[in-house]
Amino acid sequence: MESLAGYLGNRSNRIVHHLGNMKKECEIYQMKMQDREYFTPDTIENAKSKNFVECKFCMG
Ligand SMILES: [Zn+2]
Repeated sequence: MESLAGYLGNRSNRIVHHLGNMKKECEIYQMKMQDREYFTPDTIENAKSKNFVECKFCMG
């Protein structure tokens, strides 16, 4: 069984969200498809290395 991605970045504001802990304030569903960035490997360290900043709502 395939598991969900752990982290999702928003290219328009450079914020990365933890999908397992997402809040309505994250506005994941309002994010445009072309703004969505998934990470390989799927880790917060990798996201940060690509200049994404942790979301204060789901990783605060
Ligand atoms: Zn978030």
